Amino acid sequence: MKAPSPIDPNEPLARSPQWRDWRRQMRNRVHDEETLGRYVRLTDDERAALAATKGVFRWNITPYYAALMDPDDPDCPIRRQMTPRMDEVAPDIVGVVDPLEEVAHSPVKNLIHNYPDRVAFCVTAECAIYCRYCLRKRMVGDADFMMRKAELREGIDYIAAHPEIRDVLLTGGDPLTHNDAHLDWLLGALRAIPHVEVLRLGTRLPVTLPYRITPELCAVLEKHHPVWVNTHFNHPKELTEDAAEAVDRLLRAGVPVGNQTVLLRGINDDAATMKALCEGLVRMRVRPYYLYQAQLIGGTAHFRTAIETGMAIMEALQGRTTGFALPKYVLDTPFGKVPMTRSYVLGRAGDHVVMRTPRGRLWAEPNPVPPGDAPAVTLPAIALPEGIATIPTGARAFAPEAAPEGR
Ligand SMILES: *Cc1c(COP(=O)(O)O)cnc(C)c1O
Repeated sequence: MKAPSPIDPNEPLARSPQWRDWRRQMRNRVHDEETLGRYVRLTDDERAALAATKGVFRWNITPYYAALMDPDDPDCPIRRQMTPRMDEVAPDIVGVVDPLEEVAHSPVKNLIHNYPDRVAFCVTAECAIYCRYCLRKRMVGDADFMMRKAELREGIDYIAAHPEIRDVLLTGGDPLTHNDAHLDWLLGALRAIPHVEVLRLGTRLPVTLPYRITPELCAVLEKHHPVWVNTHFNHPKELTEDAAEAVDRLLRAGVPVGNQTVLLRGINDDAATMKALCEGLVRMRVRPYYLYQAQLIGGTAHFRTAIETGMAIMEALQGRTTGFALPKYVLDTPFGKVPMTRSYVLGRAGDHVVMRTPRGRLWAEPNPVPPGDAPAVTLPAIALPEGIATIPTGARAFAPEAAPEGR
């Protein structure tokens, strides 16, 4: 969509009503080099990456979020989450398209039934912004994953036909890119199913476009309680006054707000940053829920940390901050989420970490060997068990040529 009048990067200073118009922010998202260049002084690497990643993975940044980027520091934690880098097209031997085998766990389009009592339902492929490390890089922004109303209906019918499903997580994409009327319809249809107890939304909009959390939206959510929201703050720089106000509106509508962070190298992979993030969230009355080990998504190797690094951060925080400021550090696997604690993690076999999963099966996660100078946590060295489930190295590597059409 062509922007009628591009938003001036100096506008946020005024925090005018126009600046806070979420639809205008969506229409004026930053998605070309020239506009991005008005927010930050682009490096040669970033310019090259904008060209090299074209057609591979969408990028789009709301003016609100773009204005949080440091114009002079390419390593700014906001900028690194959103602006392509040449690292993304570097050879990546383990990165795959769908490491959690979500497609295999989808009985109907975009509905992932991998736990007996709950489903994740990807109700849209759209996001306001496109995180460079996205778990669902395979689908976001892709026309094949867009959901027509009839396809949503199929998902709703599946849930209605499965009385064991008591918890429905709406995700995507970002479900709050739907308009209020559509969300009202969708939540109402799910709420009408007697065995559905809890509705949850996974959304990054409180972080990347807090103005989307309007009183009108909150009134819709409130109609369908119990509705929970999990959002996705990764760095203390994201804890702005505007974000806090968006969270406050949700809380006042009776919606509990949790947070899921992804552990990202160079962004939040140290104890001081993680402590500041978690304590800042608690000040905003947001409960840290999960800290995710970064997935083996193609083109994201530069974001991945050693699992020992995450375990060391959790050890550094344990006992040193409010108990409920601590998230649970987990790795998602095709056999479910695995807590990254020594009761599940058995040891390291070279460049794999071996763990039990809640379903009993063992899993070997390809994972970078920790740097020599680093972690306070060392895993026992073990042999890779024969025939263990893992992601085959080199298989299904994500490459520009392999990207579906239309991105
Ligand atoms: C993470 C996830 C859920 C929700 O899991 P909780 O641990 O209850 O938050 C549900 N379905 C799928 C497929 C998931 O990956």
